[in-house]
Amino acid sequence: MKYISEFRNPELTKKYLQDIKDTVTQPWSIMEVCGGQTHSLVKNGILDLLPKEINMIHGPGCPVCVTPLNLIDKAVHLALEKNVILCSFGDMLRVPGSKKSLLEARAEGGDIRILYSPLEAVKIAEENPEKEVVFFAVGFETTAPANALSVAHAHKKGIKNYSILASHVLVPPAIQAVIDDEESKIDGFLAAGHVCTIMGTSEYHPLSEKYKVPIVVTGFEPVDLVQGILMVVQQLENSKAKVENQYARIVKEEGNLEAKKMIAEIFEVDHQFWRGIGEIPDSGYVVKEKYAQYDAVRKFDISIEKVPENPDCISGLIMKGIKKPYECEQFGIKCNPSNPLGAPMVSSEGACAAYYHFSDKVEV
Ligand code: SF4
Repeated sequence: MKYISEFRNPELTKKYLQDIKDTVTQPWSIMEVCGGQTHSLVKNGILDLLPKEINMIHGPGCPVCVTPLNLIDKAVHLALEKNVILCSFGDMLRVPGSKKSLLEARAEGGDIRILYSPLEAVKIAEENPEKEVVFFAVGFETTAPANALSVAHAHKKGIKNYSILASHVLVPPAIQAVIDDEESKIDGFLAAGHVCTIMGTSEYHPLSEKYKVPIVVTGFEPVDLVQGILMVVQQLENSKAKVENQYARIVKEEGNLEAKKMIAEIFEVDHQFWRGIGEIPDSGYVVKEKYAQYDAVRKFDISIEKVPENPDCISGLIMKGIKKPYECEQFGIKCNPSNPLGAPMVSSEGACAAYYHFSDKVEV
C-alpha cells in the first residue's frame, strides 16, 4: 500500500486543513484543472472541510467532456456506415452525440468495442484484415504516448487497416484560455499530476510568470490535494507566483522523455476545438502528415453536418469554472447518469457526475 495509504491518512489531511485555516486571511479562488482532482475533492468531502475563504473551482480537465460533438457523430457514422470495428475507452460510449451515443449505435448493430489499450485495437486489426479498425483516441497528454505507440506499432508491422480518430487536448493552453476569459477570476491553479508525469513541469513556468499565478502540480489523493491547496494559499498570502511540485514522488521537471519522444514522432500541435468551450489555439495533437494513413479523418470520407449543442446543457460554463454543476437547472432533474444531457454527467472525470454521485449539497 506504499504511496497510497500515506496519502489517504486522515490525520495528515486534518493537519494540512488546519494549516490552510491558519494561513488564509482573505478569499481566494483556486482551480483544480483536472476532473480526477474534482472527483477526489468531492468524494472525500474536502470541499466541505476547507475554510469558507477558499473557493475551489472545477476546471476543463475532463478529456471525455471536451471531445467535440462532431467527432462523436463521426465515430457513430464510422461504426454504422463503414466497414469499421470502432474501438474506444469505455467512458466515451455513453456520451451523447447530436443524434445518438456510441452505446446506442452499438445497440443498432455497430461493431463497437471497449478496450483498455490502443495496442489491443492494433491486434484486432491484425486479426480482422477484412475490416477497418479505428481507435477513438481521446485524452490529454496522458493518453497520447500509448495512442502514438499504437500508430508506430501498426506502421512497423505494416498493418494497413488501422487508424485513430484523434481528439487530443493539451492542458497548458487550456489554463491560458481560462485565465484569458474575462468572466473567470482564478487566483491559483492545481495542475494535474498525471499530465505532468508525461510532460514534466517546465511548460508551466512561462504561464505562471506571465500571469503571476501560482501553479502547484498535485496528485489525486486527499493528502495530495490539501497539501497542494496549502502550497497555493501560502504563495498567494505571500504574494508569490511560481510553479511548485507537490507530486514529486512521481513527477520530474523534464517529464518522461521516452513518452515525449513517442508523441513527437507521431503527433504535431495544432488548434483544437473543445466541446462546450470552443477553439483554443495550439491546444491539441493531430497526426503528422507522415502518418496520414493512420488518421481516420483523412482516411475516411466523413463529412458530418455540424449541429449546435443541447442548449439546456451549460457544461462549457462549468468547465470554465464560471458555474458549479448544481447551478445547472437540469442537474438531477432532466440530467442524471442514466439520462445524461452532457458529457460531464457521464465521464468518470466529469464534474457533474462527481457532484451527482458524491455531494450531498443537492437533493437528487
Ligand atoms: S448537469 Fe447535465 S445538463 Fe447540466 S451542465 Fe452538467 S451535463 Fe450539462
